[in-house]
Amino acid sequence: MIISGEQIISRLKDELNDALASYKGTPHISVVLNIEDNPSRSYIKSITKVARDNGFRITLYEVDSNTSEEELEEIVKVLATDDDVDGIIITRPYVVRMKREIINRVPKWKDIDGQTDANIAALYKKEDGLFPATPLAVMEFFKEVNYKLTGKHVVIVGRSTTVGLPLFHMLLSEDATCTVCHSKTENLKEFTNKADVVISAAGHPGLITEDMVQNATFLIDVAINIVEGKIVGDMAINFEEKEYKEKGLMFITPVPGGVGPVTSYMLLLNTIKGMRKRGKLP
Ligand code: NAP
Repeated sequence: MIISGEQIISRLKDELNDALASYKGTPHISVVLNIEDNPSRSYIKSITKVARDNGFRITLYEVDSNTSEEELEEIVKVLATDDDVDGIIITRPYVVRMKREIINRVPKWKDIDGQTDANIAALYKKEDGLFPATPLAVMEFFKEVNYKLTGKHVVIVGRSTTVGLPLFHMLLSEDATCTVCHSKTENLKEFTNKADVVISAAGHPGLITEDMVQNATFLIDVAINIVEGKIVGDMAINFEEKEYKEKGLMFITPVPGGVGPVTSYMLLLNTIKGMRKRGKLP
């Protein structure tokens, strides 16, 4: 079964509508955008559309390598203290002067992509917090089909602080057994072939082929790569229904139209959660 982002989004939209049904204001997300980074610009472009379509307001603060440390600090300070701002995203890669101290000025319940030390620590310590949107989106795919992760062996390909590492903690919390692979992993195939679930977030088109996922029942492709003008993931797996059923595969996610679109909704839901914690929503 191919699980599209669209089918998950219809459930998430209901959650958003319920949360905002009695709210008189407009939830407001501010983005500190590094305009020198093209992937960040397209990431924010799609988030902006989803946010506006769902009745959120988005304000962009464009920064680049000429922006001084003082200017950056001032922007974050203003956003942190303005009660009208409900969520703050600082795009990665950060501009050169963006120090951890500046990022950590974002209040815990406005940090809607889980970037601050407070939220990273909360995830690692299994405390309440706002966690990175992409790994949260991945977890929605398991929830969607009621896939029980307890005791399952999950191989994550990629160890970034935005995807692989937070995902590792989320999956451990669901009692999965996790292996995290990366570019220095020797013989990746040996690991992926032992997995019940393979999640790829390497950004390397064609990295995962059918012969590498012989025992998997769930494949999640997080990657967004552009090849000859087309969006592709990391997995070169035949998604034809007959083929994957014969291989015993139960669930797969497409690229495009899989994890990517769900990620934007997780940012909106994190904003709602933060507003509740700040007493702006019941
Ligand atoms: P990243 O910071 O570049 O991390 C990539 C990770 O993959 C690193 O840990 C790297 O290992 C590992 N890796 C790279 N090539 C590999 C290989 N050949 N074999 C095994 N591991 C390999 O990237 P990221 O920000 O995590 O993003 C990863 C992918 O997800 C990208 O395609 C990105 O576009 C996509 N993404 C999608 C969403 C979404 O919403 N769907 C959101 C964010 C990112 P080392 O640590 O050893 O370098």
